[in-house]
Amino acid sequence: MWHYNQSAPTYNLTQSSKRPMDLVKINFQLAKYTISAPSIKQCPEDTGAEVAFAGRSNAGKSSALNTLAQQNKLARTSKTPGRTQLINFFEIQPGVRIVDLPGYGFAKVPERLKREWQKNMSEYLEKRESLKAIVLVMDIRHPLSDFDRMMCDWAQDVQMPVHILLTKSDKFKRGPAQATLLSVKKEMAHLGDLLTIQTFSSLKKVGTTILQNQLTQWLQPPKDEEEA
Ligand code: GDP
Repeated sequence: MWHYNQSAPTYNLTQSSKRPMDLVKINFQLAKYTISAPSIKQCPEDTGAEVAFAGRSNAGKSSALNTLAQQNKLARTSKTPGRTQLINFFEIQPGVRIVDLPGYGFAKVPERLKREWQKNMSEYLEKRESLKAIVLVMDIRHPLSDFDRMMCDWAQDVQMPVHILLTKSDKFKRGPAQATLLSVKKEMAHLGDLLTIQTFSSLKKVGTTILQNQLTQWLQPPKDEEEA
C-alpha cells in the first residue's frame, strides 16, 4: 500500500522505508566487486538473494551504487571499457548481491549488439531465481523513457517488485521534485504493490537510508542460512 505523508521530505510509499527490527542488518559498505558476466551462463551461482540496478546510460546508476555502498569507486568497474555491456556483480556478504545491469541507450552500438544485449538481459531477468527485485534508476529530469517503460511492463508481467529511484533530485527544487514523483507514481499505478518510488541525490546524499532499507527487506538471507 502507498503511504503518502505530506510532511515527509521524500514520498516513499511503504513500511519499507523503515527497517523493521526483526530484519537482519545488511552492511552495504561491505560491497565488493566479484565478477562481470556476458550472459546468464557466466553469472555466479544462482542461490541467495540479489537486487539488480537498471537504467538508461547516464541516468546516474553508477553514482547511486557508489552512494549506496558509501564507496567512491565501487561502480567504476561497470564503466571500465569492455565491461559496460556486462552484468556486473557486487557481493555484500555470502549469498547477498547487488547487480549492475548494463546501461541502455548506447547510441552508436550496432544493431547486432543491441539485439545481443536484449537477449542476455531478458534471459537474466526471466531465469535468475535469486533476483528479488529491480531498482530502476531514472534522471528526475527525464523519467519514464521507453526503456524504463519496457522494464516496468516486464516487471508487471513477471510480478517482480520494482523500486524507482528518481535521481539527481538536487537538480529540482522540492516542489517540482515531488510533483515529478507523484506523476511517475500515477503513471505507473498499474504496478500496484509491486511499485515503490523515491527521490534520490548522489550529489547531496539524499535518500540513501530509504534505499538501504528497501534493499534490506528484499535481500534478507533465508532463515536457515542466517542461522548456519
Ligand atoms: P550512469 O551512466 O547511469 O552510471 O551515470 P553516472 O552515475 O555515471 O552519472 C552520469 C552523470 O550524472 C555524471 O556526470 C554524474 O556526475 C552525474 N550525476 C549522477 N548522480 C547525480 C546526482 O545525484 N546529482 C547530480 N547533480 N548529478 C549526478
